[in-house]
Amino acid sequence: MKTVQDYIRTIPDFPHEGIMFRDVTTLFSDARGFRIAIDQLLHPYAGQPIDKVVGLEARGFILGGAIAHQLSVGFVPIRKKGKLPGKTIQQDYTLEYGKATMEVHDDALQAGEKVLLVDDLLATGGTAEAGIKLIERMGAEVVGCAFIIDLPDLGGRKKLENLGMNVHALCQFE
Ligand code: IMP
Repeated sequence: MKTVQDYIRTIPDFPHEGIMFRDVTTLFSDARGFRIAIDQLLHPYAGQPIDKVVGLEARGFILGGAIAHQLSVGFVPIRKKGKLPGKTIQQDYTLEYGKATMEVHDDALQAGEKVLLVDDLLATGGTAEAGIKLIERMGAEVVGCAFIIDLPDLGGRKKLENLGMNVHALCQFE
């Protein structure tokens, strides 16, 4: 029986030479692969109160939408700067080369809400950390950070755990 990891395709030298890009579109396009990924992402949170699912652009939207539907809760997108139409709050973060900004509608979460943060892949943790900061700035609480893939060599899990986060990942690549 194939595991979640077996459905993920690796594309060498994308987007730059020397990068091994972990491509989850082959997981998403397989009926069984997508089903077991959503089930396994949710598994540790069974029975736990979750008020909203927050997804990070862009593959976090695909996962987060399916998870929110499964939990019968609302979904909130955190987007790269300039794409959301309403009033936003913004958070800068560091990329491999340079800086970027994520944002969220300033009325998307209520103080005290319990949030599950979702993305496809955890590398350095910079993107997820920006998401956590935005959620916490609205007074909401991150009860879990769920990813398909963890790249442990890049230190993202440690970074998020040092922030007191519960981190859940379905598989790892060296
Ligand atoms: P981080 O901020 O360094 O943890 O990078 C994580 C972000 O980069 C996530 O939003 C991922 O979608 C994206 N990312 C980085 N490397 C890959 C990859 O190999 N496959 C898919 N997404 C990636």
